[in-house]
Amino acid sequence: MKYYSINNRSALVDFKHATIEGQAADKGLYFPTEIPKWNKSFLKELKDLSKLQIGFEIMKPYVGGSIPEDQLWKIMEETISFDFPLKQITQNIFILELFHGPTLAFKDLGARFLSRCLGYFAKSIGSKITVLVATSGDTGGAVADAFYKVEGTEVIILYPSGKVSNVQEKQLTTMGDNIHALEVEGDFDACQQIVKTAFADPELKEKLFITSANSINISRWLSQQIYYAIGQSQWTYDEAPVVSVPSGNFGNICAGLVAQKSGLEIKHFIAACNVNDVFTRYLATGNYNPTSTQATVSNAMDVGNPSNFVRITELYNHKIDEVKKHVSSDSFSDAATEGAIKKIFDTCHYILDPHAAVSYLALEKYIDQHPGNKGILLGTAHPVKFPSVVERIIQQEVPIPGQVENVIKKDKNAMLVAPNFALIKALILQIVK
Ligand SMILES: *Cc1c(COP(=O)(O)O)cnc(C)c1O
Repeated sequence: MKYYSINNRSALVDFKHATIEGQAADKGLYFPTEIPKWNKSFLKELKDLSKLQIGFEIMKPYVGGSIPEDQLWKIMEETISFDFPLKQITQNIFILELFHGPTLAFKDLGARFLSRCLGYFAKSIGSKITVLVATSGDTGGAVADAFYKVEGTEVIILYPSGKVSNVQEKQLTTMGDNIHALEVEGDFDACQQIVKTAFADPELKEKLFITSANSINISRWLSQQIYYAIGQSQWTYDEAPVVSVPSGNFGNICAGLVAQKSGLEIKHFIAACNVNDVFTRYLATGNYNPTSTQATVSNAMDVGNPSNFVRITELYNHKIDEVKKHVSSDSFSDAATEGAIKKIFDTCHYILDPHAAVSYLALEKYIDQHPGNKGILLGTAHPVKFPSVVERIIQQEVPIPGQVENVIKKDKNAMLVAPNFALIKALILQIVK
């Protein structure tokens, strides 16, 4: 498999190159030259295959010759070390819980796959790989955990001081070893800007193999297909499900759309959004008009200009009518989101986190308008990660899973820094040398 930059179709690179580089030098996102069709027998046998076999078969064509099969299998074993249960909430609505990984976030799977691939490539190029990320919360924790003690990698995480939750901050700052947290005296945009400047900095580019760990990276993006197939393997109805995805940068839903193109039987997708509704408006009007972000209770979806939007249009040859055949979108307010958390807790005794609540609302409305359908919403985070919202609404504490309890007890270890590029660049060079 080869990959091209969406800005320039003629320059092709392999999986290794695209994964190490993250984003092409022309700033384009990498995209596979073809979407593999999955075997009919593979699709029919999903129910009888293990999670590992499913993950291995899905990623094999994308990895191409970049990683030998026995190594890819080992990477899969380390990536998929937790469950993805499908649970029923109402008569027609199910949730695929993606939050049983080490940091209770769906991002664990993609981050773990990426970390193992980069660890393998670091060995083969005989050099350390430096991963630089800005986080507003969940990405940093998943990345810190996934890369912890992966040989050949150094991870530097920038997060906005005072703007992440206590659990999230502990997940970022308590690992040690090759994980370094910089607490930036600024907001998320300031962190993001410093990371962007670093990726464009000639000296850093010359001295280090420096890459990102967000869903721009093909390894993280494409491996997310795996849990769509694992979800499908638990689906017992003849008719295919409608799938609703809480969407921010649209990496997750775009992976699902790729899986559908490969043959996975998903009837329709819904991109569920909070009031940051640039994609909802795009489908309604045909115009893509990014705006500045608005803060909501589902803050991992507070994105005004989703980075994977270009991949969705690329997948459907830039024809909006094709996009609309596969995806609808809807947007919901915080009041509606909180109402859904309360309703589902009161009537079904299930605790939705604010992101899953948005995707619940979108799915419920779609099924109301298209009776006879059944659907799956993706549970992208455990409700315990958003205690201030969830506990206020359900009026009781969310039981803390073991993974979180251990982390909260540890001491924070972060370096407080001004949002100054020259200073942070010097720190990076000092950390990685
Ligand atoms: C990151 C995140 C999202 C958004 O996922 P994208 O792939 O960026 O669309 C949704 N929910 C939660 C809890 C997240 O952490």
